[in-house]
Amino acid sequence: MSATSLRDEVTDLLQRLIRVDTTNPPGNETAAAGLLREYLETNGVGCELIAKVPERANLVARIPGGDGPSLLLLSHTDVVLADPSEWSVPPFSGELRDGQVWGRGALDMKGQVAASAVAIASLAREGFRPSGDLIFAAVADEEVGDDFGLSWLCREHQDAVRCDYAINEGGGERLELADGRVIYQATVAEKMTAPFRLRVHGRSGHASMPGIADNALVNATQVIERIASFRPEPQLGPEAEAYLRVVLGETTTASRAVSRVAALSPVAAALMDALLVPTFSPTMISASQKRNVIPGLCDVEIDCRLLPGQRPEFVEPMIRAVLGSDVEYELEWTEEPQGGTRSALGTPLWAAVEAFVEEAEPGAQAAPLSCVGFTDSHWLRDAFGTVAYGFFPVTAEMPPEVSALLVHSADERVPVADLELGVRWLRHAAHAILA
Ligand SMILES: [Zn+2]
Repeated sequence: MSATSLRDEVTDLLQRLIRVDTTNPPGNETAAAGLLREYLETNGVGCELIAKVPERANLVARIPGGDGPSLLLLSHTDVVLADPSEWSVPPFSGELRDGQVWGRGALDMKGQVAASAVAIASLAREGFRPSGDLIFAAVADEEVGDDFGLSWLCREHQDAVRCDYAINEGGGERLELADGRVIYQATVAEKMTAPFRLRVHGRSGHASMPGIADNALVNATQVIERIASFRPEPQLGPEAEAYLRVVLGETTTASRAVSRVAALSPVAAALMDALLVPTFSPTMISASQKRNVIPGLCDVEIDCRLLPGQRPEFVEPMIRAVLGSDVEYELEWTEEPQGGTRSALGTPLWAAVEAFVEEAEPGAQAAPLSCVGFTDSHWLRDAFGTVAYGFFPVTAEMPPEVSALLVHSADERVPVADLELGVRWLRHAAHAILA
């Protein structure tokens, strides 16, 4: 199988996947799962569609292996909303233009769906006999997370997705440093999402006589300012330390890390900044339901991301100290915290990442880090202790500062060269882990 034909194959499959509108909500991922099943079965890969409700199927395909460790190529088929008026091409056209495939999901993440499918299909055609199972899962409902996708599979269909190693989205950016070196980022952990609500108190009254009331909305502004400007003491976790060792060639103190990285790459520094501290972003507020009533209560929702390993109960005293005691409020953690898991470094999968980077671009290095958001990887780590990394390497054609603006945005597109590199990486990983 020549590289050219794999490139054409992955390009064609991605175009067809983009044309299936899987905007979530409502998702309707079954149409994408059906397209993938037809493609995979034609190539001799056995598939299962596993669905909690008929229109939201997950696809799981497998080349069965022996008793060796198993490898899962993980991806999701749903995409976020696209407003056609903001786009230069229809967002579900899958148009091929100047060597790039355009459309919603090209980067997040139908490109990797297509590359994973082509990797497993091409291996099956070649008669690849893995030592452990090679699995490909294209799951539903990652973008909203209403429990139709991997969270549900990890609970109700464990045998379908249990794996020792997994390759997911969430990494692969290629960074050129100021000193000429090149690094490829791979995520090995993720921050924890732990939102909370501050209910600020006051005393209601008629808006025509503010003097008789104590306006909770006005009180809330003080609380908002304090939490938004809060910068906890930075700390270096194992992933940040390993990242610095690659980027700087040595570790440094947490307080100097961002400025030292900034001298080599502003993109890496911005990321580093969010990886050394928990973050607190006030995003929603509600107070009076009537214009002429001064509110006695005001609720402020805070999007809070903790470091891997940090727990809400550790940071709560810190938050309370910052908020002070002059404004009366209650603090409530509103959702079960999600994510915050990590996988070990120094595993065979990490060795495969390093070897591939060296082969794809001699002299370049792989750098591990945490993901600032969270991905489906945490379901696997929690359920099976899977070593899950986010790595889908990209070429120099689309620098990370460009792709970051296109994900979940207008004119999302992916270079065909990146799709081809992705197929090469996934095939490399399968050979490395399952030889
Ligand atoms: Zn995604």
